[in-house]
Amino acid sequence: MELNAEQQFIDIQNNLATVKQRIIDACKIAGRDPASVRLLPVTKTVPAERLRIAYAAGCHEMGENKIQEAREKSEVLSDLNIKWAVIGHLQTNKAKYLARFANEFHALDSLKVAEELDKRLQNEGRAIDVYVQVNSSGEASKFGLAPEDVRDFVQQLPNYSSLRIKGLMTLAIFSSDHERVRECFVKMREIQAMLRQEAPAGLSFDELSMGMSGDYELAVAEGATVVRVGQAIFGKRPLPDSHYWPGMG
Ligand SMILES: *Cc1c(COP(=O)(O)O)cnc(C)c1O
Repeated sequence: MELNAEQQFIDIQNNLATVKQRIIDACKIAGRDPASVRLLPVTKTVPAERLRIAYAAGCHEMGENKIQEAREKSEVLSDLNIKWAVIGHLQTNKAKYLARFANEFHALDSLKVAEELDKRLQNEGRAIDVYVQVNSSGEASKFGLAPEDVRDFVQQLPNYSSLRIKGLMTLAIFSSDHERVRECFVKMREIQAMLRQEAPAGLSFDELSMGMSGDYELAVAEGATVVRVGQAIFGKRPLPDSHYWPGMG
């Protein structure tokens, strides 16, 4: 079963090529420029050794949802020039770790975290790109701001000068019903349009981080500028998603 390093390299390269081609195709259908969509490989649960191979195969950015795992990998792989994105919920007391190694944070959902992260980044003399997470499906199991709270929330963000606000992030509903998934993405586009009118000067909401292995083409059709794709590149995770998102059925 276990593939050797050469086979893993080819496997990852092929998967990357397939995903990139599908993004290009989805862009063409939507009349979008393929250069406007960034593929962020999601590496959670993938061992560091395999990530060395992935790096050689072209993955130079990696997204992780748990700070501890991200931190360990960033240390083991510190000889490579990997840009780390933390894409999962952050507890305030972990902000100091994120401030040390991450280039991006996609899951800002509270002012407490914004404040602590900004403070820690200032200590490190760094600034990072930040996305505000929105709970577009309304599911209780998902993190993120309720859509109706986003406007007030972003008014506070200019206070945190080390957070370069770039856009919004969401996880759509997990459903085989495409229309329900699409509604989540459309809602994000609407919130983005509202913020372009009403957000404070200096913040940018040009980026929409949305779409995963099961729904990234749909997300591209609805305006995603970053798709976070794991399993379509690295294969199925050993445990069901309920393990990674507690509270899911
Ligand atoms: C795991 C994860 C992804 C990628 O999911 P895949 O099904 O592996 O593509 C995207 N975003 C977040 C926040 C994740 O935790």
